[in-house]
Amino acid sequence: MTEILEQIKKLVPNYSKISDTAFEGANIILYTKDKGFFLDNGGIIKEVVNTIKKRVELRPDPAITGDMEKSEKIMRELIPEDAKVSDIIFDPQRSRAIIEAEKPGSAIGKQGEILKEIRKQTMWVPLIRRTPALRSKIIENIRAVLYQNSDYRRKFLDKVGHRIYDGPIKSKKEDWVRVTYLGGGRQVGRSCLFLQTPESKVLLDCGVNVAAPDTSMYPILEAPEFKLEELDAVILSHAHIDHSGLIPYLYKMGFRGPTYCTPPTRDVSALLALDYIGVAFKQARKTLFDSSDVKEMVMHTVCIDYEEVTDITPDLRLTFYNAGHIVGSSLCHLHVGNGLHNLVYTGDLKYLKTKLLEPATSNFPRLETLMIEATYGGKENILGSRMKAEDGMIEVINKAIDEKGKVLIPVLGVGRAQEALLIIEDAMMKGRIKEKVPVYVQGLVWDVTAIHTAYPDYLGRTVRQAIFRNDTNPFLSDIFKKVAGKKEQEEVINSPGPCVIVATSGMLTAGASLEYFRHMYDNPKNAVMFLSYQSEGTLGRIVQSGMKNFTYVFDDKPENIDMKISVHNFADLSGHAGRSELMNYLRNVNPKPKKVLVNHGESSRCLDLASSIHKMYRIETDAPKNLETVRLK
Ligand code: ZN
Repeated sequence: MTEILEQIKKLVPNYSKISDTAFEGANIILYTKDKGFFLDNGGIIKEVVNTIKKRVELRPDPAITGDMEKSEKIMRELIPEDAKVSDIIFDPQRSRAIIEAEKPGSAIGKQGEILKEIRKQTMWVPLIRRTPALRSKIIENIRAVLYQNSDYRRKFLDKVGHRIYDGPIKSKKEDWVRVTYLGGGRQVGRSCLFLQTPESKVLLDCGVNVAAPDTSMYPILEAPEFKLEELDAVILSHAHIDHSGLIPYLYKMGFRGPTYCTPPTRDVSALLALDYIGVAFKQARKTLFDSSDVKEMVMHTVCIDYEEVTDITPDLRLTFYNAGHIVGSSLCHLHVGNGLHNLVYTGDLKYLKTKLLEPATSNFPRLETLMIEATYGGKENILGSRMKAEDGMIEVINKAIDEKGKVLIPVLGVGRAQEALLIIEDAMMKGRIKEKVPVYVQGLVWDVTAIHTAYPDYLGRTVRQAIFRNDTNPFLSDIFKKVAGKKEQEEVINSPGPCVIVATSGMLTAGASLEYFRHMYDNPKNAVMFLSYQSEGTLGRIVQSGMKNFTYVFDDKPENIDMKISVHNFADLSGHAGRSELMNYLRNVNPKPKKVLVNHGESSRCLDLASSIHKMYRIETDAPKNLETVRLK
């Protein structure tokens, strides 16, 4: 028996009432066949939790759960109508009933009284999930995959628990922590850090650089120190392809360990991975993985909420904090060993309040090494006022309305897309945009927006409250028109009136935005606006730079482009922290780190930020190159 279970056995006086035990990742589940004990354990479980400082849950043994059909009927009777239950799904292996409702608060009841009554009358553990206000196929599919493979999930999560709790296997001679840059060192794209301790080997992100040639698109997994079969876990900071894009490939190559991320990150990254496959298919390009590998990733994902502390290996404890960058984006805090070392990997961060999100957290219980991004890390990368940029966007749209032109906003699907929708919705409601013209939202952006409505807890205060009140949910505004396929896209292209188009990809490399651009660039009434970083080598970067005449190859056909469309840059609305925000972050981060490692930025920007932080705050800094290893402890 694992030591932690032995410990629990000693703490529970009537342990004979426990019929079975299981791990669900770091959580410990006790099952009982004693109905009375399940309903009232007399505070014993609480005491166990306080003593061992791990999450312990008492559940009814599957042998005593009520008949599913009858139980569902009881649940539907107990939950008030206004909660709008959309589905009840039973997970018999784990004695849980997942109740999907539009208003979770009403389903839970005051102080959870309805849930208590459900437990009493049905002997099931009820879990309430929010039904997205906009229907999301991907959420439905992900939930279906997890429910259908519930038996596999139970075994997998138990295995993860054993890896955490079965104790140190190797003999430790010396304590150390090292991180190797497999991608994202002095570059934007293919972010991938390999963290090693005497007990653990984990990847922090594993992304794809879509703008790079094949040879340098992927992290350098062939580095001699990296062996997939020894990998314990993947930690995913957020759902952008340059951080998440290669994770399905790890599963294709046989990895069966957990990927840790927040729930919105799981849903959005699965969606973007499937889209990535779809786009490549249309371009007759091969991808390294297919949709079955994305499914494997979903099945092996362990979701953790912000500020929920979780052991992930015998010597690593992970906590996610809000990073302010996109929905579900996380600063990853790792506590190594017993107080040996504490590090934060920021992934991408924003240190200002936006329409969509709160600024990144800057307070941590402990911190020695900070690994921070430098997308806008150079001295010259000061972002201007967001308010001015919003005004500028509104002006461009108003001008297009006057001239009956179209406005194209190429977006990454998640992040600036939803920020732009919120800005436009707000301006139209307040009459700052003079006419309620249609805002066409292309398929993928729409799906991602739907995911936002499922996780209001991950959004900024204002929009969260608006969603809770459903009738004021800005994402449900009737100005937004979904564009589902090629035919509808053509109708938008040929439509006469003024409109706004929000479409992927964000750098005009592929997808709908490229198609729209192709039909829009030769008309001076039209406008294109960029809200985010444009990588070197992309069409977005060329257009953004102001070049007027150049040749571009669309579908293998070179086209001589004579740009008439007006080009606007609102990078000040970026989801990344600008130079001043990064420096402010270093000023405010608490406690002060002893070492700062800079990554995720063009070489000069990484070096500039590293040297400025060193000069200003007297902290040891470095901007490692790919394949460099830094010893943190
Ligand atoms: Zn990002």
